[in-house]
Amino acid sequence: MPATLVESPIVAEYRRLTPRSAELAAKARQLLPSGITHDSRFLQPYPIYVARAAGSRKWDVDGREYVDYTGGHGALLFGHNHPTIVAAIERQLPLGTHYGAGHEQEIVWAEWVHRLMPSCECVRFTSSGTEATHLALRLARAYTGRNKIMRFAGHFHGWHDHMAFGVGSHFDGRPSIGVLREVADQIVLAPPGDLEAVRSLMDQHADLAAVIIEPTGASWGQLPVLGEFLHALRHETAHRGSLLIFDEVISGFRCAPGGAQQYFGIRPDLTTLAKILAGGLPGGAVGGRRDILDLLSFPDQPGEREKVPHQGTYNANPLSAAAGIAALEMVATTDACARANEYGRRLRLALSEVIREQGASWIVYGSFSGFHIWPNPERLPLSAEQIEAGHYDYRVLKARPRPELLTKLRLGMLIHGVEIFSWPGGPTSAVHTDADLEQTVGAFAATLKMLREEGELI
Ligand code: PLP
Repeated sequence: MPATLVESPIVAEYRRLTPRSAELAAKARQLLPSGITHDSRFLQPYPIYVARAAGSRKWDVDGREYVDYTGGHGALLFGHNHPTIVAAIERQLPLGTHYGAGHEQEIVWAEWVHRLMPSCECVRFTSSGTEATHLALRLARAYTGRNKIMRFAGHFHGWHDHMAFGVGSHFDGRPSIGVLREVADQIVLAPPGDLEAVRSLMDQHADLAAVIIEPTGASWGQLPVLGEFLHALRHETAHRGSLLIFDEVISGFRCAPGGAQQYFGIRPDLTTLAKILAGGLPGGAVGGRRDILDLLSFPDQPGEREKVPHQGTYNANPLSAAAGIAALEMVATTDACARANEYGRRLRLALSEVIREQGASWIVYGSFSGFHIWPNPERLPLSAEQIEAGHYDYRVLKARPRPELLTKLRLGMLIHGVEIFSWPGGPTSAVHTDADLEQTVGAFAATLKMLREEGELI
């Protein structure tokens, strides 16, 4: 990220349209580092502050309306405030928000997870996706008696110490600041999609407890993963006695009702879930083989064996359970996943057409209900089809050689009433409309024009 953003017509226009957000950002910076609460919400000169949201849209504190592609960080397959989910929360609210005890809803919620993902023979709820991947690693180590974990460069699995490096930087496996070297040493960071390299690393590290992967590719397909690669991973892990963990925090209940594992026809040993799982409220889960999840069970006889400890004040919170049940029921009984996927496909095509018309070297690509905009700053002879077919260098796609260009892209889209996610790109939803698509395409064309006028579009 640039230390300071140089003023320009795009930046000036954004400032002109969002004075109240500027005020709130100045206030926020007094208390919140960088004025934000999640790294991916960082935007210079400041992000918009949102006052309300509904369906595919949100409104900022200056009264401006946006087509939303942040989608609750991927949690909102049904958009903001879907009436069925709101009604489920409203029914639960007067009945209590925290029992500190078991409740029927948590059983129904787990039944929905199992019905949609049969590999989840047992489920343990957590409060977030980060907690889910943390618990999955602990279970894998306890089950196998091995220490090391293989994960893939660029893939995101939350922010705990095992996952905090090698995502956007530190691709050599060095720990990011604040993470113990001893923890990082237990992570085998593999190049995504490179089966030969993976096999060779597996030969070198016979003590792999598990391999964890985002099965649709890093950051919702920013670094696409092919089905053959996933099938080979399934084979190699089973053959070598390591567990295969699908991190379906974002792909689960999204690319298909049963997630990537249903789409690719692969049964992982463990699955980590969050986002759509809890219908837009906080929540996560680890699901998987009964013999592995049984390590969380108390032994029949005291002292018979050691259990894996796991607590969490907000696990299976009743409000999250109510919202989650409503969401999963709609995933199972409607064509929501297919609609979000189809909108994603149309949006990728339409944005690519804008690029073609403007003679730019940018590339829009993605899969399922996701789109990624890559400005291709070096004008590499690469196409969306090549990237989607796995022919890319992950360091190139993850690199941010001209961060000010990406910032201005996001500002330009905001100026024209569209908020995209920081990748840049975003998840699409089942409630995005033709009007949203038209507005997004218009905003993209106008933004590219503004960038060209500023000499940023090469
Ligand atoms: N795993 C994946 C694939 C994710 O996309 C995310 C969040 O974006 C996480 C884990 C972490 O989930 P949470 O933000 O709920 O901790």
